[in-house]
Amino acid sequence: MGRIVRITGPVVLADGMKGSEMYELVRVGEEGLMGEIIGLQGERATIQVYEETSGVRPGEKVERTGRPLSAELGPGLVGTIYDGVQRPLTEISKRVGEMVKRGIYVPALDRERKWEFEPRVKKGAEVVEGDVVGVVRETELVEHRILVPPGVGGKVVEVSEGKHTVEETVVRVEGPRGKEEIRLMQTWPVRRPRPYKEKLDPREPLLIGQRIADTFFPIAKGGTGAIPGGFGTGKTVFLHQVAKWADADLVVYVGCGERGNEMCDVLVHFPELKDPRTGRPLMERTVLIANTSNMPVAAREASVYTGITLGEYFRDMGYDVALMADSTSRWAEAMREISGRLEEMPGEEGFPAYLASRLAEFYERAGWVKTLGSDERYGSLTVLGAVSPPGGDLSEPVSTNTLRIVKVFWALDTALAYRRHFPAINWLTSYSLYVDGVEGWWKKSGEDWKGLRTEAMALLQREAELEEIVKLIGADALPEPERAVLESARMVRENLLQQFAFDEVDSYCPPEKQLGMLKLMLRFYRRCMEAARDGISVAEVRKLPVREELARMKKLPLEEFRKAEKELERRIDEQFEGLRRGKG
Ligand code: ADP
Repeated sequence: MGRIVRITGPVVLADGMKGSEMYELVRVGEEGLMGEIIGLQGERATIQVYEETSGVRPGEKVERTGRPLSAELGPGLVGTIYDGVQRPLTEISKRVGEMVKRGIYVPALDRERKWEFEPRVKKGAEVVEGDVVGVVRETELVEHRILVPPGVGGKVVEVSEGKHTVEETVVRVEGPRGKEEIRLMQTWPVRRPRPYKEKLDPREPLLIGQRIADTFFPIAKGGTGAIPGGFGTGKTVFLHQVAKWADADLVVYVGCGERGNEMCDVLVHFPELKDPRTGRPLMERTVLIANTSNMPVAAREASVYTGITLGEYFRDMGYDVALMADSTSRWAEAMREISGRLEEMPGEEGFPAYLASRLAEFYERAGWVKTLGSDERYGSLTVLGAVSPPGGDLSEPVSTNTLRIVKVFWALDTALAYRRHFPAINWLTSYSLYVDGVEGWWKKSGEDWKGLRTEAMALLQREAELEEIVKLIGADALPEPERAVLESARMVRENLLQQFAFDEVDSYCPPEKQLGMLKLMLRFYRRCMEAARDGISVAEVRKLPVREELARMKKLPLEEFRKAEKELERRIDEQFEGLRRGKG
């Protein structure tokens, strides 16, 4: 047992810690606060403490636990709200009131609750690590697959169907290492990535029903993305849209020290949301990890790892998981604070030199993988990080380092938010490196999504160039074809890019409808350009009733849109033809 030598905020120095290991979990002080060893020099250990340290004094004891900070993985995760070190907040508040008391130990998974275990293996079968030995219906939306833990395997000698607590053995195997017990629950050290067989190049889009993402800057299942933006640009609304609409089996939402009241908003708001597809509460496929900024910084640091470990665990079951971290800037600030307390050599803007590698390691845990197990099972973990650069300045270290790693960048833009163009994602500066990867998926619809997308992007680029000229000489001085470009681009911006999150229908736009809308917009564009070449003025085009009709297509549910699509095509052609005849 060690003794505290010095306390500086969340960092504690302890002596007499012989035999300790890096990242070992310890109990600090008389109250037994949770901490983790982050530095070792001989018998001296530097410990970051996940709880408020005020009142703790030098000389108090430090106890080793002999194990690293680990997550509990098993039935009961889904629908729970945890703090950064996986303490169930709802359970705690039931026991001790709203404020989390120090030194309190409540296990992440309920020890009393019994779950109905349905075996998927029989006595005598051979199982290897990652195999599904049975399932538990955890919520209406999630079937929890019980996996043979990594490193375990052998011949099944006992199977125990029926009701069990998470600690009870459901399957016994006899392997090369002797008898081993498989329980409903397993644990995993959060800082270590969970193993898989093979990581593959992401090929399928994670559809989120937002046109600016799916159509223009798609994220793939197993991909990485960042959404940086200043205050009020729409990060939270966007991430909520992802949590609600993404075609993922599970969502892990890590609210990592965003302003306290905002996190409350998530905590209050999320449990009320309904899964739009099934009408069930969204929490039935969601795990929330909440760290408000009034919790100690070290817990924030841990929350990111806890979250990603849960994500990997569900991925290993063969699910598509979406993890959102809001915001990674707060996490980085926690790193900076702890690094400062350790008196490490600061890097850029005071962030530790290892900021870049920590961010990279985090996003590296995303992926589309072939899981462990003897069956062919695939799972994905998509990681989306919000970044909140101070003052919206993307040249600061967290933003620049993140951009070097992630493959999708949705650039929120203050100017667009100010103009109330939502989602305020700038189409000129955003990018996705998954366009080629997911092209095959879109091709299955028989349409050339990539070609259409390229055409629309080129139009928007052209608009931006022309806007520069307009600034100098005014719009009136532009020749008609150029004015037709501006008119068409405006149609694309208003009817495709803008999407109101709070509209009952347009909140979610299915991919078929996205394609249909894109095609109609481009049809309008082509006719508009032809008309301009034939000497028809944009002023005439603006009078066409079909412009209004196109503006209303957002409001049409998929079925109605399907019916209206052909008619809209016809009306575009007919009305432009009318202009030409009128002129002739
Ligand atoms: P941030 O989290 O970046 O500070 P929010 O997500 O809270 O910003 O968004 C600020 C406001 O912008 C919201 O309250 C909402 O009015 C508006 N907004 C953002 N995105 C959308 C959207 N897609 N549709 C409609 N309004 C939006």
